[in-house]
Amino acid sequence: IGMENSCDQYIFRSKLPDIDIPNHLPLTQYCFQHLDEFAERPCLIRSDGSKTYSFAEVELYSRRISAGLSQLGIEKGDVVMLLLPNCVEFALIFLGLTARGAACTTCNPFYTAQEIAKQVNGSRAKLIVTQAAFTDKLMEVANAVFHGFKVMTTDEAIDEYLHIALLMEADEDLCPAIAPNPADVIAIPYSSGTTGLPKGVMLTHRSLITSIAQQVDGENPNIHMTKDDVIICVLPMFHIYSLSTVLLCSLRVGASIVVMTKFEIVALMEVIQKFKVTIAPLVPPIVLALAKNPIVEKYDLSSIRMLMSGAAPLGKDLEDLFHSRVTQAIIGQGYGMTEAGPVIAMCLGFAKSPFAVKVGACGTVVRNAEMKIVDPETGISLPRNESGEICIKGEQIMKGYIGDPEATQRTIDKDGFLHTGDIGFVDDDDEIFIVDRVKEIIKFKGFQVPPAELESILLSHPEIIDAACVPRKDEVAGEVPVAFVVKASKVELSASSVMEFVARQVVFYKKLRDVYFVDAIPKSPSGKILRKELRLRLEQMHRNM
Ligand code: AMP
Repeated sequence: IGMENSCDQYIFRSKLPDIDIPNHLPLTQYCFQHLDEFAERPCLIRSDGSKTYSFAEVELYSRRISAGLSQLGIEKGDVVMLLLPNCVEFALIFLGLTARGAACTTCNPFYTAQEIAKQVNGSRAKLIVTQAAFTDKLMEVANAVFHGFKVMTTDEAIDEYLHIALLMEADEDLCPAIAPNPADVIAIPYSSGTTGLPKGVMLTHRSLITSIAQQVDGENPNIHMTKDDVIICVLPMFHIYSLSTVLLCSLRVGASIVVMTKFEIVALMEVIQKFKVTIAPLVPPIVLALAKNPIVEKYDLSSIRMLMSGAAPLGKDLEDLFHSRVTQAIIGQGYGMTEAGPVIAMCLGFAKSPFAVKVGACGTVVRNAEMKIVDPETGISLPRNESGEICIKGEQIMKGYIGDPEATQRTIDKDGFLHTGDIGFVDDDDEIFIVDRVKEIIKFKGFQVPPAELESILLSHPEIIDAACVPRKDEVAGEVPVAFVVKASKVELSASSVMEFVARQVVFYKKLRDVYFVDAIPKSPSGKILRKELRLRLEQMHRNM
């Protein structure tokens, strides 16, 4: 990283030279630019071995699906929700939508109807693509959504819904031409960002291409992903880490993608062994299982050459433990954020072994980007070794939050820097260390749990006057959500009934793990919850236990 001090700003850059990124192209064209080199190689492989699509087939299906979508009246600019667990159809439809110029909003299929409805309303999705098992919830979703939408299933055909065959069997020659613009929005994952409720993050052809190129294009010792690699896709594709780093980067370089529907340790071991997986992009809780579960010893994991960990911090102990079991693998950490398109930093094995990366560092800033560290109070940029809010600028960052220009303005400053809400510093060797967070988010196994969402549910309880949710440290999940609650005077209210009340309305990882009754929630004079104070209170309570 070179550092500049111009216009009173300390700016950090990658040591890797900037490269020309063809981000004027539509995303599918960019992904398939080198298709000829690996057209017949396996591209998307179902982990149960039931189906494999070659790169040439995936490219063909992206055009067919695009034609089929056009016949269904999905136009450039329309939004379609993918409410799917990991499956090859997720990838195929995402590519078809992208080729059509339509945007895809990705949603966790295990969300409750209430959570899904909020995202359908916010993104104005006019088609929901899902599997038969998730259609039960859709009646309730429809009741809470303000506009009409169609439903399509990708597995079983259901009479009242559309079926994916309509897309898979469409005539690719009937695809009307569209005029793609690099600034067109094609993906709308949801994230609560630094504050508040989940918001639709608008990512364009340009932002996604730039991020992929920063990860795998040019001479790049960071990842070295090649067409000889086999990558495991076990992280949920609805999260941008999996969508970008696993799916799109692999398409670009020709790596084979083994798609697993869900994480389960034995199944993962079997798949790694069977398909001789070389790259395993994971999150710390899965690394923990790999490092500690005795069952792992029974499998041959010698094919793994690289373990990538992201979405939450990976501790040194865990890294060592994993290494003692899978000795040949390089461990690389990545640091990203949905709004950043997503990768901000990666480990750099630049001219030295990636093992040499310092303990606790989450990498160095990606190329074709600028980073600054600012004092969260004054906004002044800080030099090396001083902690402040990490900010990132480049063509990879989001266009903004859908329908929320105020939140966009709060997140991207007038100089074009995205404020991450993470506190960290850049050391003398350009390595980035995250030390704290100024944002509210709670991260359970890398999944986002927005406190504001839980607080609004708690406040809808007739016997709760005020509430605040904060993270509590947890060895397995990293963090779990807990709540401080002020109840109406004289009412009988148990912690378990409050926990149950929330649990009914949210996906499993947003469930409260504890409720503490208090007389008042500490707030600033402007009414903001003093979350740090509550986090400290929690730590004290634990120390006294
Ligand atoms: P998401 O938008 O769900 O990807 O969440 C992004 C946030 O996850 C970041 O702003 C960080 O707070 C956290 N995060 C991601 N990667 C790392 C990492 N390697 N180490 C520590 N925190 C991370």
